[in-house]
Amino acid sequence: MPGQDKLALYIHWPYCARICPYCDFNVYRARRDDGEALIRAMCADLRHWRDLSGPRRLISIHFGGGTPSLLQARHLAALIDLAVALWTPAADLEIGLEANPNDVSDETLTAWRDVGIERLSLGVQSFGNHALQALGRDHGGAQARAALELAGTRMPRVSLDLIYGWAGQTQEDLDADLHTALASGVGHISTYQLTIEEKTAFGRALKRGRNMAVRTETSADLFEHLIARLGAEGYSQYEVSNFARAQAERSRHNLAYWQGVDYAGIGPGAHGRLWQSGTRFASVAALKPSDYIQAVNETGSGRAEWAPLAREDIADEYVLMGLRIRDGLSLSHYQTLAGHALAEDRIEALVAQGLLVKDGDRLAASPKGRLVLDALTRHLLA
Ligand code: SF4
Repeated sequence: MPGQDKLALYIHWPYCARICPYCDFNVYRARRDDGEALIRAMCADLRHWRDLSGPRRLISIHFGGGTPSLLQARHLAALIDLAVALWTPAADLEIGLEANPNDVSDETLTAWRDVGIERLSLGVQSFGNHALQALGRDHGGAQARAALELAGTRMPRVSLDLIYGWAGQTQEDLDADLHTALASGVGHISTYQLTIEEKTAFGRALKRGRNMAVRTETSADLFEHLIARLGAEGYSQYEVSNFARAQAERSRHNLAYWQGVDYAGIGPGAHGRLWQSGTRFASVAALKPSDYIQAVNETGSGRAEWAPLAREDIADEYVLMGLRIRDGLSLSHYQTLAGHALAEDRIEALVAQGLLVKDGDRLAASPKGRLVLDALTRHLLA
């Protein structure tokens, strides 16, 4: 497939100091051992992915989790060094690390810079103690501010995560968080709506009648306010939930997902997508760290699933992802993937309603369309 000379690399570190009550990621309480066996398995899995992908231009290495800022610097270095030896690093290779504010210090920042990390995503979530307690986070507002300030002096690029929609949150609360974020001059902000997932502590609380999130309408109002405020401050909503002050601040790793670029997923539960000889494969690694290690030891690969994707599914995923970004998708690329064009009459109707914007070969959701993106995408693909 044209353009599939690139590869993004996601590395999942599944451990956290403690499990937040809203989190439904594949995470486990950090253990005392230093994770040596898991790192060895990840390195072997990287080599396996290289066999699958062949030579590619490596555009990003993203350490996510879990809490990869718990990883020892020598382990980060081992994974980064191996990845850039296996694939050809792009001139603008992005190397990003998700970090808990508690893990940010002079010492860790120095170590992270030394191993090549150049973009830090700080899991701030809020600067308010009340919100952080409600969210069950193990840091306070002062720690969040200190981590952001320190990271800003040492990291070339910093992004912060903000959660909105926790029970009782008002527009003033949101404004207070935005004020602190904006005053820091941070280049990138990722926003997350608090959603209650069934298999979490918040999900169990909801079953008992206690909702830890605001009502859907309130959440939508908060999000619209957030978009307006960040827009007024010069942050471009380049993806539904992501805002950047400048093009260079954007997450090139996440853009790879949204643009349909191949990605390798290393570590327990990590997902991947790979074109091979005209077929696109979806992979999922074994969920539990022990199963992942065992799978790698027995087969050389951590994969639990590896399946070819149907042409229609590949094309649908391209639309689902492509409409999330301001730049939108290429209609001709969709046609190549699906073997047919997107329904012209539906596009025209959605353009007339002000939900889609069509510009030559590009199709994008309008600001109004981005607010109802799920319904819009469903309608377009129906
Ligand atoms: S720190 Fe992040 S990944 Fe870990 S439990 Fe909390 S929300 Fe989930």
